[in-house]
Amino acid sequence: MPRSRDRRATRARPDACPGAWRRHDAADGALARFRPVGGATTARELRLLAGAAASGGAPLELTSRGSWQVRGLAGRTADDLADTLSVPDDPAALLDGSGRDVPCGLIASPRSTLLDEPAARVAAGLRGRTDVPGRLLVALEDRVSDGTSQTLDVRDRTRSTGDVSGQGADVTVVVTGAGSALLLDGTDTGRRHDDPAALALAAIDAFTTHRGTAWRVRELDDEARAAMLADLDGVTTAGVGNDVLHPGPADPTRLGPAADGTLEVLPRLGEVDAPTAGALVALLDGGATLRATPWRTLVLRGLADPAAAADRLAGLVETDPASRWRGLSACVGAPRCAKSLSDVRGDLAAGVASGHVGGTVRQHWVGCGRACGTPGGRVAVVEAVAGNDEMRGTYRTVVRSGKVIE
Ligand code: SF4
Repeated sequence: MPRSRDRRATRARPDACPGAWRRHDAADGALARFRPVGGATTARELRLLAGAAASGGAPLELTSRGSWQVRGLAGRTADDLADTLSVPDDPAALLDGSGRDVPCGLIASPRSTLLDEPAARVAAGLRGRTDVPGRLLVALEDRVSDGTSQTLDVRDRTRSTGDVSGQGADVTVVVTGAGSALLLDGTDTGRRHDDPAALALAAIDAFTTHRGTAWRVRELDDEARAAMLADLDGVTTAGVGNDVLHPGPADPTRLGPAADGTLEVLPRLGEVDAPTAGALVALLDGGATLRATPWRTLVLRGLADPAAAADRLAGLVETDPASRWRGLSACVGAPRCAKSLSDVRGDLAAGVASGHVGGTVRQHWVGCGRACGTPGGRVAVVEAVAGNDEMRGTYRTVVRSGKVIE
């Protein structure tokens, strides 16, 4: 572990990440967040979430952790939504039969069926735990199904492979043809295990044992990191030689239909409005499955005709790999956030329409320095600046790398 920390982060309070039952009070009402297990979302869940969002007067939103966010909820409506979403006997449900959600982010390679079962087991091991901070992000990546782990020299940083390993997760388990590897905060620990779910849960246990008041692995000092690894030594095997795994790209978006029966689509700014949700639900009712991604796209799997599905979604979402909207995201901005210095989403949309924004580097537009929702990996944060009326709509750019800020 090459990183060094002078001291362990001290937090005066537990994290306040919203969830299904714990809501955030925003200017436009209560905000609830639902964390899908590896992005998995059923037709019923999508219908309920989109309906609740519509009743709150806002679209359903995708977050930079592959979660769903519903705004403008009233108290009873929010409770009813969580109650209705509770499903017994489905380990990948947003909420289980006891109404328990997953306490932290749990993302997985969206095109991989190999990880459905391990992700469900990790979720089962996490539900109901109060020692896991909401800020923690856990990622499961499949490098077997696309063959890259068989053919790629993992020391070669010039080639990109993988997807969720580039999202800045605290705990990343990469499944390869030679077992599962553990990365902590993007760095290979050299620890290996045959079972990806057991490895992820062991790493989470080690973190919660030694985290003190820290929310993220990157906040730990050297002593706490060493103690984590010592705990893991008892349940893992050591990696061999130069077999070091590196994180994948920050933006692994692959928009459009693919020959393997998948279709990746991009709702502009992560907003899924009622007509879009209705069209997606129709495809799910026809046998497809859906995964939300932390790069704010949706992957449909199991489509008999992905090109025809893309036609059905035309005009509702972006399906063109050359879309200028690719890699663009924004916080909610004014008027829904009282802190915002500008109508961020409106300004960004105007920039794209003018042809001056998009199609180049990843950008995240924000209405103030809190930079909510900044995605993991290298990204240009475009921040509204304070000033007089003449300055309204003026932005400055800050390049951030490898951080997730929520
Ligand atoms: S970054 Fe600032 S303006 Fe945007 S949602 Fe967060 S607090 Fe509001």
